[in-house]
Amino acid sequence: MDYKDFFAEKLEALRAEGNYREFIEISRQAGQFPLATQMKAPSSKSVVVWCSNDYLGMGQMRAVCEAMMKGIDRTDTCLDADAEANHLAADLAEHHQKEDAVLFTSGYLSNYEVLKTLGRQLPDCVILSDERNHASMIEGIRASGAKKRIWRHNDVADLESHLSRLAPNQAKIIAFESVYSMDGDVAPIPEICDVAERFGALTYVDEVHAVGMYGNHGAGIAEQLNCMDRLDIIEGTLAKAYGIVGGYVTASRTICEFIRQHVPDNTEVFSLPTGASAAARVSLRHLRWSTYERKRQRQAVRDLRQKLDAAGIPHIENPSHIVPVIVGDPVKCKALTDALLFDYGIYVQPINYPTVPRGTERLRINPGPLHTKDQATELVNALSTLWRQLGLSCQAA
Ligand code: PLP
Repeated sequence: MDYKDFFAEKLEALRAEGNYREFIEISRQAGQFPLATQMKAPSSKSVVVWCSNDYLGMGQMRAVCEAMMKGIDRTDTCLDADAEANHLAADLAEHHQKEDAVLFTSGYLSNYEVLKTLGRQLPDCVILSDERNHASMIEGIRASGAKKRIWRHNDVADLESHLSRLAPNQAKIIAFESVYSMDGDVAPIPEICDVAERFGALTYVDEVHAVGMYGNHGAGIAEQLNCMDRLDIIEGTLAKAYGIVGGYVTASRTICEFIRQHVPDNTEVFSLPTGASAAARVSLRHLRWSTYERKRQRQAVRDLRQKLDAAGIPHIENPSHIVPVIVGDPVKCKALTDALLFDYGIYVQPINYPTVPRGTERLRINPGPLHTKDQATELVNALSTLWRQLGLSCQAA
């Protein structure tokens, strides 16, 4: 086989259909988020970032940065089991009102390893997976070798119908997200818990796009809906609203200990470098007690949606902070984001297939507490111009 030709042809096909992922080089400007510097030619320039997963700008908070630097000074940069990581795990357990927590080096790994382990270890297990679940869950379920049932997105009646066809004593896990990252819609968690309890299923919820931002203390949608105690396993990340890196699950002591004992890979997956743990603890503590960032984020979302409405630019309604603007064409989606970046100094990543279904290519805009009204006006003005230039359809204002 001619491997070189094979890879080159596949890459060319991706380019031709507009689905080639460009990893642009931008560097955040310290203390100036959402400003970043675009490094590549013709010359470096300042851009406003609208698609960061550092949803609340915590990655630049002075106290968080200092905690990371002090953590490095105290130990080193290495990934090793240490006291700071244990303290962080205890903080996370308390945050979600669970007995225990297990840390991982990323949210991706926490989903992958935990679902893989539980699906393998529970005898004759069936995992019921929402059809829009993130790749990390899908891959973990696949790797577990457990039987899988896919239920229609956020459709509790469909979930119930799958459950009703399984033997009452069969091991079952319902795996779903609280805020779905691409549409920004929210799962009906209490209703899912109702059917889980009725059919004796374990519940596993991914709160990656919710922690830090929802609930009175930022513990997520389950906190907001007052149902954290009804969920068996809550998974989250430190790499989005908390602005650091790492993932975790919180659950009962028994489940967490079972995970620690049975995850087959290197046990160093259960830790973080001291600096990251120390910074995450400061970020977590801050967002537990400060509502300022959450309120400002909501205002910024409302403001942007109003401006998009006034300009007739279609966006998916949802109750979250994620504003999906549907373009519906991969080539136009890429052209739009290129023009935003090169002509207007605005960075929004194009979201194309396979991340979203073909025909629903989009911009995924994340307004945060540090975006100004003027920046939102500039974004919508630029979008309006480009929308017309590319012949995209508007909705009545
Ligand atoms: N779960 C969901 C729903 C995600 O969207 C992502 C990443 O974007 C992850 C898990 C993985 O999180 P992390 O970035 O911490 O690896």
